[in-house]
Amino acid sequence: MKADSPKPALKRELRRLFRAMDFISDRYLARKGAPAKLAAAFYEVYQQLGTAWEHLALQCRHWDGYRKVSGGKLACRICGKIKGTEERWLLLPAKGQKVIGVKTRPNSSRVFPSKQAATITEDGIQFHGATLRVSVHNQYKSKLFRGKHDITIARDRILRLFEDGMECWLDTYGVHLKLPPQGKPMKPMPYSAFLSELPKRKLQKFPVMIEYDKRDHLQGVVIFRPMKRSATKRKQRISSSRG
Ligand SMILES: [Zn+2]
Repeated sequence: MKADSPKPALKRELRRLFRAMDFISDRYLARKGAPAKLAAAFYEVYQQLGTAWEHLALQCRHWDGYRKVSGGKLACRICGKIKGTEERWLLLPAKGQKVIGVKTRPNSSRVFPSKQAATITEDGIQFHGATLRVSVHNQYKSKLFRGKHDITIARDRILRLFEDGMECWLDTYGVHLKLPPQGKPMKPMPYSAFLSELPKRKLQKFPVMIEYDKRDHLQGVVIFRPMKRSATKRKQRISSSRG
């Protein structure tokens, strides 16, 4: 255990909290004949203390192990949390690396009857203005065309990052960058082609750069963000006045 362990302080805080909870419980909730209005008010206080307990328990690393409680369950000797119960809150350090969850991957070759049954992780976070979504699922049956056709959706791990109308989509098969639509959305869906299939006059319109090494191995792709017309014009004016 590190010297700056929060254990003693946390133990003290939890002891105070448990005393307060016992006080409310013995005095106002368990006592017969207490006025109903008063009992309701103190029930509310007890609930608030329960929330404080949940938050304090997040700091507990259950350093002293567990003791057996009724129902064959195990409760932490310090915070009283039952082993294996799901936590409703996360505790993250304000500074330094924040870790939420573990990396999951599809873990079964079974075909599940629904997306819900096949889902392993479905979560998202807003982080300093950017949105990140993680979706991990096994294979599942899905209905297309109003249930007329059964198709099997392949197992996948999909990460989606959203920023300023752009989306970066990563899955088992590829990396997909979607730029915000320019002008009115076009129908049908956009075309797609390999670079080698396109004529140079078309390629010249796309602000895309391929990065590759000496052995002609693909290292990356850069897409220059489309600038708003006014910003582009201003830039041109500035560069022409300088030149
Ligand atoms: Zn604990």
